Amino acid sequence: MTDIIIIGSGPAGLTAAIYARRAMLSALVVEKDYMGTGQISVTDRVENYPGLYGLSGYELGEKFREQAETLGAEFYEGEVESLEQADGVWHVKFKLGGEKTAKAVVYAAGTSYRHLGVKGEDKQRISFCAVCDGFFYKDKTVAVIGGGDTALGDALYLSKLAKTVYLVHRRDEFRANKSLQKKVDDTENIVKIMSAQLKEITGGANAEGIVYEQAGEEKSLALDGIFCAVGSVPNTQLLEGVCKLEGGYAAAGEDCVTSAAGLFAAGDVRTTPLRQVVTAAADGANAAASAEKYISDNF
Ligand code: NAP
Repeated sequence: MTDIIIIGSGPAGLTAAIYARRAMLSALVVEKDYMGTGQISVTDRVENYPGLYGLSGYELGEKFREQAETLGAEFYEGEVESLEQADGVWHVKFKLGGEKTAKAVVYAAGTSYRHLGVKGEDKQRISFCAVCDGFFYKDKTVAVIGGGDTALGDALYLSKLAKTVYLVHRRDEFRANKSLQKKVDDTENIVKIMSAQLKEITGGANAEGIVYEQAGEEKSLALDGIFCAVGSVPNTQLLEGVCKLEGGYAAAGEDCVTSAAGLFAAGDVRTTPLRQVVTAAADGANAAASAEKYISDNF
């Protein structure tokens, strides 16, 4: 039996592994994707993680991973089907069969892309990852939908490749941080379309445009590509019936202690006012420390 199974290999999970190993506990990181580092891996540039200014999200994630590996964390690739506690032991079962057991579990499964929920979205090809797909839109006209850090970061990334980037947002002000807003304002080929309610994505197999409503008027825009960046939803389906959830997030304070004994929630899945790499990493540290205490009190 492992001391701590960590579900998720993003910044929260990898930091939990680093702290678990430094506490001389065995740590098994369970990951859905081979050698993954979570959503940070598709972030173009990270300017707000202290000490490592301007690295790409991929580079930063690799650094976290290398550190966890160097300290002796083990990794297991598999999609979790369920987790349950029996006689004080956590059983993590996998979709393709088999199970692993642990004294404690750190749940750090992150979030998934939120979909737009408009007509045409399911039929047309739209992208959720500017860093992955931007290359295909060199000198083309694209739109990014959304007004948060991801949308503005994606628009800036795409502005270096595409001819024109329309940034389409439903309100008259962005949610993104001021520094990104300034950069967007200073970028000539980003065109802001504010207070625009998206109605439809048009086209055949590939998206060819959007229809939106602005000030009571229906308008359309021809595009070569559409990037959706309207936030994310927590990957907490596995926690339903296992621990208390609040608004879909695992209810836990800064100590990452959930309502289930021996289960700790870290990173974007937790009820927290700020979801950043630095707060995910802090959660990983707190979750591992809480798990260490739980193990020494109970085993
Ligand atoms: P977010 O902050 O939740 O922003 C989502 C954006 O999409 C909002 O502007 C929202 O509009 C809009 N939106 C939501 N549903 C929509 C819909 N159905 N149709 C049209 N627009 C919709 O998500 P995010 O930008 O992915 O960021 C997630 C978290 O990661 C945040 O905490 C963010 O700070 C963090 N992050 C940080 C960095 C960084 O620091 N470098 C980079 C990326 C992400 P409203 O504004 O009207 O609600």
